Parts: sequence; structure tokens; C-alpha cells
Amino acid sequence: MPTVLSRAARGLAVAAAAVLAILLPAGPASAVGDEVVHVYSARHYDVDERLFARFTEQTGIRVRVIEGTSDELIARLRREGDLSPADLFITVDAGRLHRAVEAGILGPADSEVLRERVPETLRHPDGLWFGLTKRARVIVVSRERVPAEVQLDYEDLATPAWRGRVLVRSSSNIYNQSLVAAMIEANGVEAAEAWCRGIAANLARRPQGGDRDQVRAVAAGEGDAAIVNHYYLAQMLAGSPADRAAASKVRVIFPNQDAGGTHVNVSGAGVVRTAPNRANAIRLLEFLVSAEAQEILAAGTQEYPVVEGVTTTPVLAALGPFTAQAVNGASLGARNAEAVRTLDRSGWR
Ligand code: FE
Repeated sequence: MPTVLSRAARGLAVAAAAVLAILLPAGPASAVGDEVVHVYSARHYDVDERLFARFTEQTGIRVRVIEGTSDELIARLRREGDLSPADLFITVDAGRLHRAVEAGILGPADSEVLRERVPETLRHPDGLWFGLTKRARVIVVSRERVPAEVQLDYEDLATPAWRGRVLVRSSSNIYNQSLVAAMIEANGVEAAEAWCRGIAANLARRPQGGDRDQVRAVAAGEGDAAIVNHYYLAQMLAGSPADRAAASKVRVIFPNQDAGGTHVNVSGAGVVRTAPNRANAIRLLEFLVSAEAQEILAAGTQEYPVVEGVTTTPVLAALGPFTAQAVNGASLGARNAEAVRTLDRSGWR
């Protein structure tokens, strides 16, 4: 059990580490100055490293990154409290950004650049976080077993016609929770629960694996349709021969094109409330929504840029345009607890 004493002791350790950080790293004078920004990131993509290097080249501000899972980093930020060296927190899914908001670790960032470039639905209304990339939760279907002209809404997969044919990962996954949160926001909790029950009843197998595994299972004939984030399919299409072979056996459907739009979520970042290098954190955020960085982000992970008019990848272009749901990312987080309870009641494990 944490005691006041141990918390104080830990505080001292953090303070000591902070002092060391100030004393040690400056090094000899070079193009890179003494300015620094500390990033706590739950996005672990090579492309992020390249982007940070590019930012340092342009600004002279060094980027120090600490990686972890979202929950680990939030716990660490709470533990470190006001002594935390962290300036910017990065994670994926609005549900997780909401957890950071709830934990009180983010502070508002006021920046005209961010407000202008990041659409309103993809940022927190008070500037506590900003979307960096967009991901669509799509349906993939077997090219062999689902006729080419079939267009589906999420609701279709919960109807008796799909019994024993649907693949999706566990309901403990935040992507499914945010999808259900969006449904609650749009149609109310009863409709959302009925949908979850329908999905649970229609599963081809007990939920297992990640989104790529659902695509592979459709390709292997274990089921006929899967609900997945689009970039997993896109990465497979641009990936190893085995991944390409599996991905080429499925077709992507953007659901609900005439019924509220396809569910989209974000990866995003917020300035830490106690950021010692607040201005640098905002500069890094502004850099991440520049056309150059947005293009690199999309190319690196096959996610969609949040900024309009940025060039995407050939694979994304081939998936085609789609209408996205207009639900604000902040309400996905606010509805997360309700979504989890709804999923629990429905029997979707
Ligand atoms: Fe993912």
C-alpha cells in the first residue's frame, strides 16, 4: 500500500532524477540547443521516431521519449505528480485520451494553429487533447462468400442472416468499447445493447487475437465478415507476401454510409498540466499537424491524416473515400464506462 512517506520518498527520487537530467545532458554546443521536450508515448511506431528527429532538425529542440502502455504512462504521470518531467502525452483511441483527462494529467493548450488545422470533432473541446491521425473501424468481408454488390451497416452483422459468420476481437478492447460508445451516443443505450447481443450471438468463434487475426480468419474461411480498424488491413495489403495473400481475399466495406457514417477514432496528444517545457510541447504538437508531418504519419501507419488536403498513401487512396461519423471524440471517452457495462450485459466476451 502506498503511504504518505513512500510517496514523499518517490517524489524525492523523481526530483533527484530531474536534477540529474538538468545537470547531465546539455553537452557541447551544437546545432541542437538546450531546449528539450519530454514525450510520454503509448504510440510505438518507427515513424514517430523519424518525426521527432525531423522536429529537432527544424527547431533545435531535442525530443526525449518514454514509451509504455497508455495505462502505465498515466499511472506514472499520477505518481510523479507536479514533479513529472513530462510535457506531452501521446496515445491511441479517444477512450484512452479520456482516461488521461479523468486522471487530471492534461492541461488546456491554446493554439490557433491547432484549432485551425484539427477539425472540431477530432479534438477535446477545451484543448486538453488533439487528434493526430484518424482510424476507421470498418467491416471486411470474404470476396468468395459475400457478393461484390453487398454493402453493410454495423447493424446488419447483428441480424440472424449473419449467425455464426462474424469475427471480432474481445469486448475488453478499447476499439470495440469506443465503437459501442459511439452507438450509445448516436442511438441510445438500448439500441447499442441490442446490437452487442446480436454480435455476441453471431460470432463465428470465441473472440481472440487482434484485428489482423480477424482478417486472417476471414481469409481462412472461419467466418465471412470481421470488424477491424482499417489500418491493419492497409498494413497487410502493403506487407509481407503472407499478409498480402490473406488481405487480398477480403474486401473492405465502410459501413453506415447512409446511416450516420463509419465510426472513426483518433490517436492523439495532450500537453501535460505540469509541463516544464509547455511552449515546446505546443510547438511539437503544431509540427505534428503540419502537412509534412501528417503525410509522414499516414505513410508510416496507413492511418488517415486529421488535416484536410494532405496526401495519403496509394493503399489508402485505393480504399476510397467514405463518410465518417460526426460524433466528437471526447464523447467516446465520456461514454466508455457505459459502453463497458453494456458490453458486459450483452455476453460479448
Ligand atoms: Fe491499433
